[in-house]
Amino acid sequence: MLYGWCSGLLRRTSLVFAASGAGAGYTGGEWKVKLGWMVAVKAPMAKAPGPDQLTREQLLHWPKAELHCHLDGSLRLETMLDIARAEAKLDLLPADDVEGLQEILLKIDHSETLEAYLSWFRYTIPLMQTASALARIAYELAEDNARENVRYLEVRFGPILHTEEGLSLEAIIDAVLEGLSQAEKDFGIRTALIICGLRDRFESASLRQAELASAYRGKGVVAFDLAGGEAGHPPKHHLPAFYHARNNLLNMTIHAGESWGPDSIEQAIFVCGAHRIGHGTTLYQDLNLMQYFLDHQIPLEICPTSNVQTHIVQDLETHPLRQYVAFGIPVTVNTDNRLFSRTTVTDELWRVHTASAVPAHQMREIVLNGFRFSFLPWDEKQEMLRSVIAELPIPVSDRTPVW
Ligand SMILES: [Zn+2]
Repeated sequence: MLYGWCSGLLRRTSLVFAASGAGAGYTGGEWKVKLGWMVAVKAPMAKAPGPDQLTREQLLHWPKAELHCHLDGSLRLETMLDIARAEAKLDLLPADDVEGLQEILLKIDHSETLEAYLSWFRYTIPLMQTASALARIAYELAEDNARENVRYLEVRFGPILHTEEGLSLEAIIDAVLEGLSQAEKDFGIRTALIICGLRDRFESASLRQAELASAYRGKGVVAFDLAGGEAGHPPKHHLPAFYHARNNLLNMTIHAGESWGPDSIEQAIFVCGAHRIGHGTTLYQDLNLMQYFLDHQIPLEICPTSNVQTHIVQDLETHPLRQYVAFGIPVTVNTDNRLFSRTTVTDELWRVHTASAVPAHQMREIVLNGFRFSFLPWDEKQEMLRSVIAELPIPVSDRTPVW
């Protein structure tokens, strides 16, 4: 058994399956049944701090990376109100003070679908139509990350959503890069930008976003992504964008396996050429594909709280991320949307450690994966890894990659 931590859990597998019949259709080896069980059964509750227990304070002070964060889902409430007042857009918001907005935003937890969750962006995107607003929001996002010791931040957004008041696509990207660059100078955080195509737009629109991403490659943009509602919008509908990105040597990450099954993930990897997968929550449903992710060490950008809000998973206790970590797939833990998910990188890690019961030595690997699988150039990535490894005062895992 590779993992002392989970061996006790796995031994009880056959009983659970015998009772639930959840193993129906299973034809593979024993480990596959065990993995299926881990999805269905809740993680043990967090115990009092012990040798393998961390405190939230420790996680706050650990150096961290954030690889999956949407600019338009990560605004400060005060900033939303400031911009709305300055641009005479208060009528677009459901409340005119922070407390009122906070209360209304709680309803996001009852989003029936991913699409319902995405509809909340109607409150942020209209406030992100000027260069000054975009630069401010990007700057503040990097500042908020730096304040919880995030050393490396990849921010993503779809420029096409910010042209309503006449800004050119280039002016939009320049404004966001300017905000990030200023934050780098002020807070010492390293940042990078990912340009998103949108699944529910025409393929010509996503191609235009890929062209923009490649034009800014090496100038602050590190990758191309496809985001938006997954149902009915498979990534293969945007092949020209992916071909363009690949032909221009862009890194690629694609939202997949969030509200659709593993065939969406398979398509993102094999048809579109993704290097990382955004979410990948449903990967466990295809055990052969899971093995492929392990063999090729393809990273998942897991966003735990967001997955609960969109009802992709029932709760954090049954989130399959624990299964992926134990299996050896490179998992990173991210916020998705700091505003809409009311979270931080520290809080996501804390929830993974407590509610999902991932032990400290594996939390260390998750945190390091954020640096290992960043889209930074190799040399810079190695330099950053060397510096943060020295700051993590717990032993390496038996699965720590040799590189
Ligand atoms: Zn996302």
